[in-house]
Amino acid sequence: MPELAEPAIAVEQFDCPTCEVPAGSTCRTRGGKVAPKYHTPRTTPRASCSSPSSAPSWR
Ligand SMILES: [Zn+2]
Repeated sequence: MPELAEPAIAVEQFDCPTCEVPAGSTCRTRGGKVAPKYHTPRTTPRASCSSPSSAPSWR
């Protein structure tokens, strides 16, 4: 049983606002190549949508 979810899977649930790739696709660079890292806006948890119960209560 996997304890941790695949980071890439979680990130790819949404489209990227930076490179505008659709959900399910990896981030792309300006040249159209696969980016070495996901863009920051995409990896940042969205607290305003999705299920609020999944957000960590570390505050
Ligand atoms: Zn991106």
